[in-house]
Amino acid sequence: MLQYKNYYMPGSEEELFRFMESSEKTFDIISGGTDLYAKEKGPGSYTDTAVDISGIAEFSAIRLNDGSVAMGANTRIQQFLEEQKLIENVPIMRHAAIYFADQQIREIATIGGNLANASPTGDMIPPLMAMDAVIHAVRKEDGRICRREIPVSDFIEGVGKTSLLAGEVIRSVVCPIFKGYGCAFKKVGLRRSLCISTVNSAFLVKADKTNQYFQDVRIAFGGIGPAPTRLKEIENRLKGERISRELILKIAEYIPNDIVQSRSRREYRKIVVRNFLLAGLLESLAEIDIAAVETPQA
Ligand SMILES: Cc1cc2nc3c(=O)[nH]c(=O)nc-3n(C[C@H](O)[C@H](O)[C@H](O)COP(=O)(O)OP(=O)(O)OC[C@H]3O[C@@H](n4cnc5c(N)ncnc54)[C@H](O)[C@@H]3O)c2cc1C
Repeated sequence: MLQYKNYYMPGSEEELFRFMESSEKTFDIISGGTDLYAKEKGPGSYTDTAVDISGIAEFSAIRLNDGSVAMGANTRIQQFLEEQKLIENVPIMRHAAIYFADQQIREIATIGGNLANASPTGDMIPPLMAMDAVIHAVRKEDGRICRREIPVSDFIEGVGKTSLLAGEVIRSVVCPIFKGYGCAFKKVGLRRSLCISTVNSAFLVKADKTNQYFQDVRIAFGGIGPAPTRLKEIENRLKGERISRELILKIAEYIPNDIVQSRSRREYRKIVVRNFLLAGLLESLAEIDIAAVETPQA
């Protein structure tokens, strides 16, 4: 149970900033509360005040702009399964949402909370990273509203650590729209239901006009180090190459030694990376109707 002395629920961004400006004490931001409730902090480890941002309309809006989609920090995970705007424009988030907790949690858990919680295996982070998503954050400083853009790839600094400044709040996350890409999300955990990931990964793949060569490949993994990461070296090895099962098998076998930085179950995690690479690439290609077959012999 949360043990705050004061619970404040601003109705607008303006009200939130007025509160921030007037408050001398530190406070915790709550959106869905699914991580904060689960943390079961002991008495004395709470700040005095919780600020619940779930009622702020500006933090819940989903807007399509020219070639990008801006998702309010309060976007709930279930929305990725139900809202056409999101299903069409960020389909990889739907792939990840399918494996996220159960509907009861998905109805309240948010992307802002998933990012700010900074778990190495937050399920929405690898897809956002693969899309080069950018966090739009706001804070009040010297009476002015200061806005800052932080690429998701620079946001997580370690387990539970982010680059948010004191008093800074995630307002929205902006993703470019990737047309013509196939995508996949893979996740494995310690149990079958309501499973928190041990390793998760997101894939976005585009073929050239002939459907024979990789034009673009984006791969992000969580659970192999203190923060989720892009596998740029592997992406670059695939780009421009002829699509074949042989190549994908070769890439999946080639795993740089330092790819898994997590100390626990290192060998297991390496096997997962190999298998996810194989399955994630093949599934992404299948989504754009490309079956990777053996390279035809000359
Ligand atoms: C039963 C159960 C199953 C779960 N399953 C999964 C799963 O499958 N995959 C997964 O990734 N996670 C899972 N989680 C973890 C959790 O649901 C997610 O991390 C969720 O996205 C957190 O969102 P929230 O809105 O509930 O965050 P909250 O609990 O409200 O906040 C989490 C942290 O983020 C901060 N915060 C929240 N919003 C903002 C904001 N806009 N700006 C700045 N800071 C902010 C809070 O201060 C807090 O530190 C599970 C949790 C439970 C209890």
